[in-house]
Amino acid sequence: MKSAMKLIENWFSERYSDNLQLSFRVMDQLLSVKTDFQRIDIFETYDFGKLMSIDGTVQLTERDEFVYHEMITMVPSAMFKGRPKKALIIGGGDGGTATQLLKLGFDHIVNVEIDGQVVEVSKKYFPEISKAFSDSRVRLLVEDGIKYVHNTDEKFDLVIIDSTDPVGPAEGLFNSNFYKDVRKLISNGGIVVTQSGSPFYQPKALALATSAMKAVFPNVATYTAFIPTYPSGFWSFTVASDAELKAADASWLPDGKYFNKEILEGCFRLPEFVKDLIKESK
Ligand code: SAM
Repeated sequence: MKSAMKLIENWFSERYSDNLQLSFRVMDQLLSVKTDFQRIDIFETYDFGKLMSIDGTVQLTERDEFVYHEMITMVPSAMFKGRPKKALIIGGGDGGTATQLLKLGFDHIVNVEIDGQVVEVSKKYFPEISKAFSDSRVRLLVEDGIKYVHNTDEKFDLVIIDSTDPVGPAEGLFNSNFYKDVRKLISNGGIVVTQSGSPFYQPKALALATSAMKAVFPNVATYTAFIPTYPSGFWSFTVASDAELKAADASWLPDGKYFNKEILEGCFRLPEFVKDLIKESK
């Protein structure tokens, strides 16, 4: 009995519903800290390397972060006519999105993260992924992204909402007032993208993001990717723009480890249940 209990202590589990959870066997828990906004935990896992969770939900792991960070940056970049250069990231305190944008040749990135401790923890435990924070092309602001978009008048080719799920500090990032402010910041032909949750386990996140964007932008589209450590492994992103949403001549974009030109085309092909979810979101 005693040894069974010990074994249970060496697992980190993210609960998807009352009846289902995904568990990672961990070598060690490296950190657990309560900030003014949320709880951050870092685990050394057997299968996925280091893992960061916020309030018990997986944010990234060393092994599969490339999927999320490529797909949230490369798909919208491919839809921008010409070469996008200026980006705004809301959230993204782990630095993965900014680091990926630098690889794509962006030369001015503003990253607005509400919780400075996420940045500090990432610099310590994920130095490769967060290395953008020591690059002069990246300006990190520790403040609420909702306030920032309301007050700034800077313009960006790409606005990326790389946030936690729509609870706590991220709740206000999933409504139309936020997107009204975002719309004022996008350059001619600019694109906005948000992570919009698992269509299977978090249909509300996708519905909220879609409704909020549809209320403000004439063109909205959903795409998906396979991210093994996120709920169900099937993840959605939603893009919006005043411009038509279609792949531009993106021959400048290299293939990634996940992204390539076939993925760009295929990721917008949706299962019927996802189409229904989007259709129902006015
Ligand atoms: N890839 C991740 C995912 O989808 O699970 C997101 C990672 S990133 C760590 C999410 C960040 O969004 C967190 O660090 C959180 O503090 C930040 N965030 C949440 N609400 C925010 C807000 N209103 N303004 C700025 N950042 C916010």
